[in-house]
Amino acid sequence: MTESAHPFAPPAHERRWIEAVTELSKGFAATAAEFDETAELPIANLRALHATGLDRATLPAEYGGEDLSYRTYGEIVRILSAACSSTACIWVMHIGAAVGLVQMSAPEVARSYADEVIGGRRFANALSEPSSGNMFLMPQQVAEPVDGGFRLTGAKRFVSGCEVADHFLVNALVDGAPTFFGVSPDDSMSFVPIWDTMGLRASRSQLVSFEGTVLREDRRCPPSTVRRPNHIGAGLAFLSLGIADAAAEALVTHARNRVIPATGQPLSEMQWLQFEVADVHTRLEAARMYSQNMAWLADQNSPEFLPATMTAKVLANDIARDVAQLALKAGGGSGFLRTSPIQRLFRDAQAGGLMAYSSEVCKDRIGKTVLLPQA
Ligand SMILES: Cc1cc2nc3c(=O)[nH]c(=O)nc-3n(C[C@H](O)[C@H](O)[C@H](O)COP(=O)(O)OP(=O)(O)OC[C@H]3O[C@@H](n4cnc5c(N)ncnc54)[C@H](O)[C@@H]3O)c2cc1C
Repeated sequence: MTESAHPFAPPAHERRWIEAVTELSKGFAATAAEFDETAELPIANLRALHATGLDRATLPAEYGGEDLSYRTYGEIVRILSAACSSTACIWVMHIGAAVGLVQMSAPEVARSYADEVIGGRRFANALSEPSSGNMFLMPQQVAEPVDGGFRLTGAKRFVSGCEVADHFLVNALVDGAPTFFGVSPDDSMSFVPIWDTMGLRASRSQLVSFEGTVLREDRRCPPSTVRRPNHIGAGLAFLSLGIADAAAEALVTHARNRVIPATGQPLSEMQWLQFEVADVHTRLEAARMYSQNMAWLADQNSPEFLPATMTAKVLANDIARDVAQLALKAGGGSGFLRTSPIQRLFRDAQAGGLMAYSSEVCKDRIGKTVLLPQA
């Protein structure tokens, strides 16, 4: 079966986007270790992605985009994440906030956001609160009415790419209801440098502080009346799959080249490793296929998309951790060295399961759905 004939595969007419990202990703992979070391934002990578026209392509056609399919989007996140997972993380959040604001805003505002995307402005999600944790769509911080909008004092944390963002998607409680706003940074917002982490270091997901920030009424998103997939829910499984791919590749390269002195044979010929590699390989294939199914459901705008994001995320988060763990085991002391990609991928692989909805939150929902018919 050819790739384009497979229903879950990216549509053939979008192939050029995958080729463009594959080409760029060679350079991203070459600098990923340096960005991990310095924890600097890979802004040149993000600009290079924009320069291909890819950001525009993700927009709805009525706003100048190409309605890029979720199947192609997922594949792109995966390729990016295998090369530089911090770049992929910021890009997922950027597209999630940008397309989200275009889809959720009133038409004139949506058009102005679309123009900003096309012009290369950067977007970020400021949704998670220190107190609400994983429940990032259920803000606890209240925005009080003032002239022209609502005033927010509080904080959002782990806002990937916030320091270069021109626009934020922010949520807060208004009249007791979670409400989304588009917000441009001003002096009332500051970035608290908390992001000294074990993984995804270059995503620079800092704490954003709001000191009486006005959430403008004319940038308030009207309540949503239609079902739409979103790019963050669709993208997070692929973020973990890309890390799993890179860890698997690092494992294989090491196992083929490392000759065990006692036997004189490469590590790859050891049966224990062959069995363990077969285990993670089959699970990675299953997670890949399920995630492609999830992206296809997004392309159908199916009601099954939302539960599928949780299943895909659990499968992808878990296999990324397990492949990276096996790579570290096979890598031995060499994989433990800072010069090895294995230790970096092991650290990066921990992030997916922490990001909302965490693996535990997803499993909680899935378990309740299976066991409790009314859930
Ligand atoms: C790399 C990275 C990038 C991020 N980028 C962004 C971003 O750009 N924008 C943004 O808004 N946020 C972002 N986040 C935040 C993220 O989406 C989560 O909201 C956040 O990581 C939750 O962290 P927490 O410490 O509050 O976890 P908590 O919610 O306190 O979780 C702690 C533990 O409790 C478990 N737990 C929590 N709730 C439940 C429950 N209901 N049932 C069962 N178990 C539960 C969790 O699984 C976990 O084991 C990012 C996070 C990371 C790690």
